[in-house]
Amino acid sequence: MKAEWKDVRLNLIHPFTIARSTRTHYDSIILTLEYNGVTAYGEAVPTLRYDEDAGKVNAALASIDFDSEPFSDPFKLEDIDSACRTNPLMTPSAIAAINIAYWDLQGKLLGQPLYRLWGLDPMKSLVSTFTIGIDEIDVIKQKVKEAEIYPILKVKQGLDNDKEIILAIRELTDKPIRVDANEGWSKEEALEKIEWLAGQNVEFIEQPLPADKLDDTAWLKERSPLPIVADENSIVKEDIPKIAYAFDALNIKLMKCGGPTEALKMIHTARSYGLKIMLGCMCESSIAIGAAAHLSPLADWADLDGNLLLSNDPFRGIDIKDGKLLLPDKPGIGVEPIGVD
Ligand code: MG
Repeated sequence: MKAEWKDVRLNLIHPFTIARSTRTHYDSIILTLEYNGVTAYGEAVPTLRYDEDAGKVNAALASIDFDSEPFSDPFKLEDIDSACRTNPLMTPSAIAAINIAYWDLQGKLLGQPLYRLWGLDPMKSLVSTFTIGIDEIDVIKQKVKEAEIYPILKVKQGLDNDKEIILAIRELTDKPIRVDANEGWSKEEALEKIEWLAGQNVEFIEQPLPADKLDDTAWLKERSPLPIVADENSIVKEDIPKIAYAFDALNIKLMKCGGPTEALKMIHTARSYGLKIMLGCMCESSIAIGAAAHLSPLADWADLDGNLLLSNDPFRGIDIKDGKLLLPDKPGIGVEPIGVD
């Protein structure tokens, strides 16, 4: 098994502000596997919120001997995942890069798209939201106009101008909005804002309170007129039994959980707790977005627009029509490089 990886800077079309940070670019590490003449791709986008950076991902990948068991066998995905999770140098997005690449490889070796490996109907892929970051009101309005082809908006909140942003969007469109506060509110503030947002054609609220305020979130869930979705509280499957009482749904992201193998386990665990499923993303290329898109027939909501926010996505193959994710009918993820160099 030949493995190579390289750092790629993903540039954003617009600077992207959420409740805790503003970014103009993200670091991505693209992993390429070669096995029996077949090339497969994975991707890590390290997240500062979870104490990761590109250096840690590079060190994690360098700690793997891809020629030894289980990594030398492209079908030993469970053992590969276990070996990654017991490696102290591993980080969640590095595990995701490896897991995504092995799924892509497995699909290509079997000649099947990922959705078929997972037994899913591509016609049941979801409509993705398009995300509007926090910004000056005139910039928000411009972004909403640029997002005209997307039927659902995800709007970042959690700073001082929350209502102003929603009212500015409502001057332009009545389309449904999903709100993400990124841990930016206190519980009383959250309840007051959610009661107001419920009258603004808002569908749900993602992570209103800090992840360490679980009991406050349960208090809020009891009173909220809108569903409450965990994101920063929902990392891996072991989190689900601990947080289920405080949320109505989970946002599952490949970069947090470590790839489709863990995401599938999270989806089934969450269903057993009666939770709804959202599939989300970081700002990622079409590799990781594509891998998540193939899972979307299993979810209720999708926020898989990370590649659409980029000015230099180095891969292509994942398209959207009227907001709906189109799953490529090609082996593996179905994406191809368009100039990584
Ligand atoms: Mg979120």
